[in-house]
Amino acid sequence: MKVIFIGVQGSGKGTQAKLVSKELGVVHISTGDLLRSASGALRKDIDSYIVKGNLYPDEKMIKLLEKRFKKEDCKKGWILDGFPRTVPQAKMLGKITEIDEVIEIDITDKEAIRRLTGRVTCEKCGHGYNLNTMPPKVKGKCDIDGSKLVKRADDTLPAIKKRIKTFHKETEPILELYESAKVNGEQSVGKVKKAILKVLKQ
Ligand code: AMP
Repeated sequence: MKVIFIGVQGSGKGTQAKLVSKELGVVHISTGDLLRSASGALRKDIDSYIVKGNLYPDEKMIKLLEKRFKKEDCKKGWILDGFPRTVPQAKMLGKITEIDEVIEIDITDKEAIRRLTGRVTCEKCGHGYNLNTMPPKVKGKCDIDGSKLVKRADDTLPAIKKRIKTFHKETEPILELYESAKVNGEQSVGKVKKAILKVLKQ
């Protein structure tokens, strides 16, 4: 199964993609994680875009994704989280693969800002918390492994506002290219997961 999750930053795409991919036995591909996992000169190039809240250029992004698709774990399918983010990316994706389902996870910009300004992740295991809505038991420490919780370099208010603006301008028009199913992302994590699975299992 090949699925795309679309939603403004903070809509829960990453959280849901992790949960739903496990349930379906497919791989979760986050292009944000893919970019953040780069090192050396490539990472420097990537950071020059993403830390300020700008998109990584389409051509370079699709090349990285194509390489990722060639890995063995993609054979059973995938959930794409964070891609496509522009109409050219969607068109390029259409040339290299089929897509079974597109899910739009919908939240308001106000909620997106509230979530993103409070977002922290464990530097070791990557588990996510929210200081406003889902704080850790011990301040600054991961509930799972006790490691330090860190804020992403692009989760600053100016970068957050820029990313939300870019979502509306560059990413939302993609929805016109697909027949997507809309899920209310302002429900509990469990309810959003249930709603997504209902669409995918139909
Ligand atoms: P995310 O983790 O999905 O919020 O992505 C973090 C940042 O990585 C974004 O703000 C962009 O700068 C960059 N990024 C992730 N996916 C893409 C993409 N499909 N195209 C261009 N840039 C991307």
